[in-house]
Amino acid sequence: MNQFKRRISKIVTVGKLPVGGGFPVSVQSMTTPHTTDLAAMKRQIQALEAAGCQLIRMTVSDDAAAFVLPEIKKMMTVPLVADIHFDYRLALKAIDAGADKIRINPGNIGSKDRIQAVLKAARSAKIPIRIGVNAGSLEKELLEQYGHPSAEAMVASATRHIQICEEFGFEDIVVALKASNVALMIAANRLFAEQSNYPLHLGVTEAGPPWQGTIKSAIGIGTLLAEGIGDTIRVSLTDNPVQEVHAGFEILKSLDLIKKGVTIISCPTCGRADVDIFGIVTALENRIKHIQTPMTVAVMGCAVNGPGEAREADLGVAGGKKSFLLFKKGAIIAKIPESQVLERLLEEIEHLSESKEEISS
Ligand code: SF4
Repeated sequence: MNQFKRRISKIVTVGKLPVGGGFPVSVQSMTTPHTTDLAAMKRQIQALEAAGCQLIRMTVSDDAAAFVLPEIKKMMTVPLVADIHFDYRLALKAIDAGADKIRINPGNIGSKDRIQAVLKAARSAKIPIRIGVNAGSLEKELLEQYGHPSAEAMVASATRHIQICEEFGFEDIVVALKASNVALMIAANRLFAEQSNYPLHLGVTEAGPPWQGTIKSAIGIGTLLAEGIGDTIRVSLTDNPVQEVHAGFEILKSLDLIKKGVTIISCPTCGRADVDIFGIVTALENRIKHIQTPMTVAVMGCAVNGPGEAREADLGVAGGKKSFLLFKKGAIIAKIPESQVLERLLEEIEHLSESKEEISS
């Protein structure tokens, strides 16, 4: 489907989802309510799943959060990833509660006994752990050794945690090397990918508000994916996590790593346009988010590039004088007044979506 040669990493399974080994790149997000607020968690989990989120991570920061995990697990159809930081007891409780993956850094949880207890529990539950290295919280010794949070220091941190797992014979591992600095995040993942075949979860951490954060994530995650590196991704935004999922899929779609939903091809408009492309495209984008069937829809302002793009797309409209020519599969099928073009396009999109779903089922 795409032209990038994927790095073939070790395969781990999270719930029923295979990660690594050239399997499709999956999209993750993380919940924002307090984990114990079950009503809010349910709303958000349902919204994330409706948006196509394939793995949902949540913080398990105290006993109360661990206690409600079985309830939350029942709400979910996608795998649950429990995010633990220092408390190995919470990791054990989360595993017991049915978590499908634990995010924990073994080097941060203390004695060998504790590490062994967590890895033993993960192994008997057949779940992987994710080692998450963050440039902002590197070990003091590594900062002293490397002077600053460099790619080498981040990889050294990941290697340290991995070695601890391997000493106990545990290799069911996914690794994340995150930084808010895009260049650092790219360099760290490239370096790690040269040295190890554990699957990689990609993300630019604390990427910021939606506009900046989406661009930073698209560049950081997209650059690596275009080099074949990366097995799961998370776009981290200061926004509703559903937007993270939409952004994640757009990154995968733009690299042809996935075919999903409507890809809009629309022109920026110019003085030649005699129709309101901005208004039509904005309304269209908002009303097609539920469509999962892959298709291209062109919305073009005039006869210069309009007919060419519209003909190549599954559906397309090319503007004229307050009207559009409607193309379907390369042929003109109607001339529509501007006032009706949005509704007609939506009708055709739904129709195409239903027929494609029938064909594929
Ligand atoms: S398609 Fe027409 S309106 Fe749109 S940018 Fe090109 S020339 Fe301008």
